[in-house]
Amino acid sequence: MASILASDWLVACRSAVTDVRSLLESLPSIADRAVETGTVGSGGDDTLMIDAAAEEAIFAQLDALHAGGLDFTAVSEERGEVSFGGGPLRVVIDPIDGSLNAKRGLPHHALSIAVADGPLMSDVRFGYVFDFGPEEEWWASEGAGAFCNGRRLDPSVPERRGPTGRLEVLGIESADPRWVAAAAEPLAASAYRLRALGTIAAALCQVAAGRLDGLVSLRACRAVDAAAGQLIVREGGGAVAFPACDAPLGAPLDVIAHSPVVAARSEATVQELALIPASGTRS
Ligand SMILES: [Mg+2]
Repeated sequence: MASILASDWLVACRSAVTDVRSLLESLPSIADRAVETGTVGSGGDDTLMIDAAAEEAIFAQLDALHAGGLDFTAVSEERGEVSFGGGPLRVVIDPIDGSLNAKRGLPHHALSIAVADGPLMSDVRFGYVFDFGPEEEWWASEGAGAFCNGRRLDPSVPERRGPTGRLEVLGIESADPRWVAAAAEPLAASAYRLRALGTIAAALCQVAAGRLDGLVSLRACRAVDAAAGQLIVREGGGAVAFPACDAPLGAPLDVIAHSPVVAARSEATVQELALIPASGTRS
């Protein structure tokens, strides 16, 4: 699979990080970052200028890759599916996952890029997440492990449970208070404490490192949010499922929100967490 050498994609992803970081540094205030384009992205959210500008910078990198002879289809949060010559290769991009955090100056917001050689989550071969809050670079290549700031993650890190059997700390995403309320009872049965970082990509990385014992999204997520992080979790020794899909990793790499994402340190805990209802709809 010469077309998706991890080393080549790492270089491209790091260039994209440089561009997105300088964009964010040029717009330090909440007022600057809150400016909207007046359009709605393919994912259904109002597009911020920072989202559109970050995507533009990344697409300039993709143009260069295509000009260098690589054919692929990009799937990106705002622009949707864009052909760069087509073929089986898919590059799945969220320029800024956690746009609300980026807008408000809250720490976790991340660039997420996944490279797949087929149409499904199970086809992702390379995943890259850069979290601009803690300045953490996460990446994984199928079969080669997962890394955070150059250190390989220990795949044997276990989950932690308290005396009552509940997980010590569980991540939730899509934390609309109505959906948290609807899931409150099973959340209380599963976890001692909750954390809502505000970005699925970075939250999945916390599971990959064993910092969170698990993650559930309370509404269906999109491939752009989860494609890179799910490989990082699995290469970091964890497990992931998209419970609304036929197969655990059967979520299509397109712009539609198909299923919540559930991740944990073991398959058994993924199955337990998959019972937590995700009632949210995209509104
Ligand atoms: Mg985004």
